[in-house]
Amino acid sequence: SAIKVGFIGLGNMGAPMAANLARAGCIVSGFDTALTSPEGVTIVSDPAAAAQNADVVITMLPNGAILKQVAACVLPTMPKGALLLDCSTVDVESARDVAAQAEDAGILFVDAPVSGGIGGAAAGSLTFMAGGSDTAFAKAKPMFDIMGQKSVHCGASGAGQAAKICNNMILGATMVATCEAFALADKLGLDRQKMFDVVSTSSGSSWSMNTYCPAPGIGPETPADNEYTPGFASELMVKDLGLSQQAAAAVDADTPMGALALALYTRFVEEEEGLGKDFSAMLPRFVARSRP
Ligand code: NAD
Repeated sequence: SAIKVGFIGLGNMGAPMAANLARAGCIVSGFDTALTSPEGVTIVSDPAAAAQNADVVITMLPNGAILKQVAACVLPTMPKGALLLDCSTVDVESARDVAAQAEDAGILFVDAPVSGGIGGAAAGSLTFMAGGSDTAFAKAKPMFDIMGQKSVHCGASGAGQAAKICNNMILGATMVATCEAFALADKLGLDRQKMFDVVSTSSGSSWSMNTYCPAPGIGPETPADNEYTPGFASELMVKDLGLSQQAAAAVDADTPMGALALALYTRFVEEEEGLGKDFSAMLPRFVARSRP
């Protein structure tokens, strides 16, 4: 029979993910503190109502504090053996806290943050990086297959969040490096297309250069070709880099590049032109600056 899903957090990502589950035949009850009405989703008036009788409760929320609040509310209501599947990006510690709470309540838990953004959520082509037991992952897999095109079981609880923040720390650092190199190349009189042609096929290549080139009119179509409309907003990069530095502090890991990327993106959002712009808008920022 149809899988019953409670979906909590129907924002930019959650709404299209919930609509895809409904389209695939799941019975979806949804809750959000804001007004929303994703197609095919029955909106209920509190999170516990969404969790009642659910086979799977999915959360897509802003941060770990809110996740813990919502978990405390739904775990006592969920049927024993049901799955709480958190797809939000949150700190590793909160993910492990909620995993422990779930275990005490006899509920399976998987932390499964996503990559792919709003476009991937709408298209059902997200990548999920998952942490939890084999049993919990197996129960989450049909959900991943509907909402995404790839899922990786990364390890025990918290491993999904760990993979996500490590990936995005690399992304932030390579984007900064790619943008500062383009700005240097400009000042050296090097043509941007030649720069792309060389670097994208050489050892300086990365996703930031090859797939998400920050220079307008160069390489594939990217937010740079649309006046740096996100895409992936700089403030979301600040969030993810902040989580990486919080995690690094907790386990005494030395991450100077991540720390510098966080400092640059924080300044970009708070004091420069970065707020609401795609994170690749670091390129015009570097172009406009001179050496400190
Ligand atoms: P969003 O702000 O659009 O959605 C969050 C939703 O949660 C909002 O609709 C909000 O009203 C709701 N909410 C807040 N508190 C609540 C509560 N107590 N109970 C129920 N609902 C509550 O954010 P988003 O872009 O959809 O992102 C969601 C998560 O996905 C975040 O953790 C984000 O870091 C992550 N993420 C986002 C992207 C992206 O490109 N937007 C990409 C990957 C991961």
